[in-house]
Amino acid sequence: MIDARSHSFADRHVGPDSAELARILDVVGVASLDELATRAVPASILDAAPGGVAAGLDTLDSPLTEHEALIALSALAARNTVAVSMVGLGYYDTLTPPVLVRNILENPAWYTAYTPYQPEISQGRLEALLNFQTMVGDLTGMEIANSSMLDEGTAAAEAMTLLRRASRSKSPRFVLDTDLFPQTRAVVITRAEPLGIEIVEADLTQGLPDGEFFGVLAQLPGASGRVVDHTSMIAEAHERGALVAVGADLLALTLLTPPGEQGADACFGTTQRFGVPMGFGGPHAGYLAVHTKHARQLPGRLVGISVDVDGDKAYRLALQTREQHIRREKATSNICTAQVLLAIVAAMYASYHGAEGLKAIAQRVHRHAEFIAAGLQAAGVEVVHGEFFDTVLARVPGRAVEVVENAQAWGINLRLVDSDHVGIACDEATTVEHTASVLAAFGLTAGTVVDVAPAPFGNRTSGYLEHESFTKYRTETAMLRYLRSLSDKDIALDRSMIPLGSCTMKLNATAEMEPITWPGFSKLHPFAPASDTPGMLQVIEDLQDWLVAITGYDAVSLQPNAGSQGEYAGLLAIRNYHLSRGDSHRDTCLIPSSAHGTNAASAVMAGMRVEVVACRENGDVDLDDLRAKIADHAERLAAIMITYPSTHGVYEHEIGEICAAVHDAGGQVYVDGANLNALVGLARPGRFGGDVSHLNLHKTFCIPHGGGGPGVGPIGVRSHLAPFLPGHPMAPELGEAGPVSAAPYGSASILPITWTYIKMMGAQGLRRASLTAIASANYIARRLDEHFPVLYTGENGMVAHECILDLRPLTKETGVTVDDVAKRLADYGFHAPTMSFPVAGTLMVEPTESENLDEIDEFCEAMIAIRREIDRVGAGEWPVDDNPLRGAPHTAECLVSEWKHPYSREVAVYPRGKARPKVWPAVRRIDGAHGDRNLVCSCPPIEAYSD
Ligand SMILES: *Cc1c(COP(=O)(O)O)cnc(C)c1O
Repeated sequence: MIDARSHSFADRHVGPDSAELARILDVVGVASLDELATRAVPASILDAAPGGVAAGLDTLDSPLTEHEALIALSALAARNTVAVSMVGLGYYDTLTPPVLVRNILENPAWYTAYTPYQPEISQGRLEALLNFQTMVGDLTGMEIANSSMLDEGTAAAEAMTLLRRASRSKSPRFVLDTDLFPQTRAVVITRAEPLGIEIVEADLTQGLPDGEFFGVLAQLPGASGRVVDHTSMIAEAHERGALVAVGADLLALTLLTPPGEQGADACFGTTQRFGVPMGFGGPHAGYLAVHTKHARQLPGRLVGISVDVDGDKAYRLALQTREQHIRREKATSNICTAQVLLAIVAAMYASYHGAEGLKAIAQRVHRHAEFIAAGLQAAGVEVVHGEFFDTVLARVPGRAVEVVENAQAWGINLRLVDSDHVGIACDEATTVEHTASVLAAFGLTAGTVVDVAPAPFGNRTSGYLEHESFTKYRTETAMLRYLRSLSDKDIALDRSMIPLGSCTMKLNATAEMEPITWPGFSKLHPFAPASDTPGMLQVIEDLQDWLVAITGYDAVSLQPNAGSQGEYAGLLAIRNYHLSRGDSHRDTCLIPSSAHGTNAASAVMAGMRVEVVACRENGDVDLDDLRAKIADHAERLAAIMITYPSTHGVYEHEIGEICAAVHDAGGQVYVDGANLNALVGLARPGRFGGDVSHLNLHKTFCIPHGGGGPGVGPIGVRSHLAPFLPGHPMAPELGEAGPVSAAPYGSASILPITWTYIKMMGAQGLRRASLTAIASANYIARRLDEHFPVLYTGENGMVAHECILDLRPLTKETGVTVDDVAKRLADYGFHAPTMSFPVAGTLMVEPTESENLDEIDEFCEAMIAIRREIDRVGAGEWPVDDNPLRGAPHTAECLVSEWKHPYSREVAVYPRGKARPKVWPAVRRIDGAHGDRNLVCSCPPIEAYSD
């Protein structure tokens, strides 16, 4: 008999084989993974017997092979009904060009890349994101757009807080138009409450409300489909000292005067219908655009143009000083992971179709809507709004349920607005047959169908997408080569390990990725009837159960779209718990100085004051300072946010005492679970003191980083916080709390990645992954310590799943900086580790369990070789300002210009010979400050290329 299981998936996922593992453990100084578990993890939290797994995890099935898991999952996908979706409300069917499906969505060169913090080896995705910003800016008529938001609802909430920062009015009131999408309204209301913003709702076609307000949120077209020109409303708001943000549909804007030209101060929305599948709600790239004068108020990431040391044009993230990593509680928002991969799809969709193509799609969509409206009117059905783009609102007194049910029998989902109204949204996938079926659902026969003269629709006069990024790539050959030329500039996991501490850049297995483009998951509307989505809901339920078992919490919400959003949702749960007990004075959040910047930013969003707790010399939380701070704030203590293992990569032994001290004072414990890769199968935050944690499925649970997103940041809570988990207006089963994302289950379409991972690893495989990650991190720590001292270790001299290399003494002696080392690693063919987080002047290395010993050793050899180069600088052999480190990274072009350096070309580009495949950086060291002084955040005009 052939043994089909001769390779378990865990053997494919975990890099080191048994011989390699033995060598790793030998260097670490332990005999087995079990011994490692007892040596590295504090006994007080280790809840597994040696060789066993954490209680609760034993409920996981025995692992499936890749093929078995895909069969099981496809059975779930098959249980879903992929109806024709005409529900609308911000989610539309779209026809993703196959060249983009295979070469972006299904291409590891794009989906396994990290956030472009090392711009020299990220020029490809930075250019794609600049195209996205240009597309949004052009279509909305605004001057500057960021490089994607988490979804439309959160983009609206960010627009609200942006207007508040930018507005001269000190009023706490904010006006919402009554024709907003219900989920946009709900997300904004959730966000407003802890910030003390008073929401006033008004039908803006009847004029602005009385009294003072700092801002207004309107939509174009409205949720009802109505198209309203907001020009006079905006002018009146400005006269009254308020600013205005408009949520706008980008496809409609190819035909309609954009909000920027109507005078809006900000514009937000989603780019979903530009080729990104609905996916039961996400992930999709939201957008936010403003006038240049508000550029510094923009939240999230912004790609800008600068120059490298040779004076060549180069892209990098602009205005990083606004980001939460640096500004913490003063940050403009908590956004970290965003929706890069989906933003790139949307931008390329626009490139592939160009302005004329998009316009033609929009006209076709509108004609279908017009045809439906004309048919309804001819039969005497009232069409509520005469001015619409893609969505028709029909009034059928008392008959709405019947019409929607009829349509469902025809395989079409319409929107049941209320018992008298039905909404019908057309999209790129709508056909003549669909429109005929819609009319039939209203009881109209083919005879009542009228001819619609194809009159062009719209009043937009300004041009858009005239840059060559949107004109040159209209054939498949051209697009294919463009995508390849861009991804060739970047280092993703398909070329090298990416040892980024705190980011857990592990394998994103192909079997995990395959399901995300299956129509059974990707073509579901988030508000489709539950009878259409039992398979998807089963994936969600399974995952919630498994995450409960893994974390030791009682309930899990999958709604948050990123770790930062999980933090926010978790802190809101804490806030609302305190409020429910009448403890409205509990508003202080303790955060250790070593925390991730999002922690402080999230606490502020949740209406809390941040109080920083000191760390000791050894990196651990200073218990004396903690006790003092608790005493100082006793009555006001709401929570502590503590990362475990710490952001220093260490298992703090005193975690139990820390949690107890906070609980004794009436506070709640938020355990930041981004580092769960060091805990899965070993210890459970819900059992060692946490009340709530977020996890990063895009770190520990194999969702790829996508160049900076998407992500999923679920939260686990103990039972007393469960009533405060995020709810949703369209999903009453989630309870009454407000939503933190636009869709009930957030980025649902990427949950099958994690489902497959857990299913294929099984409980033992997950534990093995955690311990292998810890073993490899300790191996690197041991090998590199004599060259770059490891800054922090636990009581036992061990690190957890990552280690911090301290370069500060070397920098002091030689002038060589962490930047120099990070850039030099690119010459060696590696992506740099995390730089200067959580300690400035250091590198944080996290190998994960997926790297085999060869790759880990090559990385160590590269680091050791770099150390020797630093020594030569220190010895005066090379000047501080002209050496291979300061000159890094080196491009192919720099070799063919006159060579005036005191080191050779070979040393520059092949420092370790030719053994490792060379990834040529596309640009040399980038001058970030230049770009921030001369902010350019969209594709430069064509003339800029002429000389
Ligand atoms: C990554 C990370 C976060 C933020 O997660 P995002 O998904 O990027 O928002 C928060 N805390 C820690 C410790 C992290 O490493």
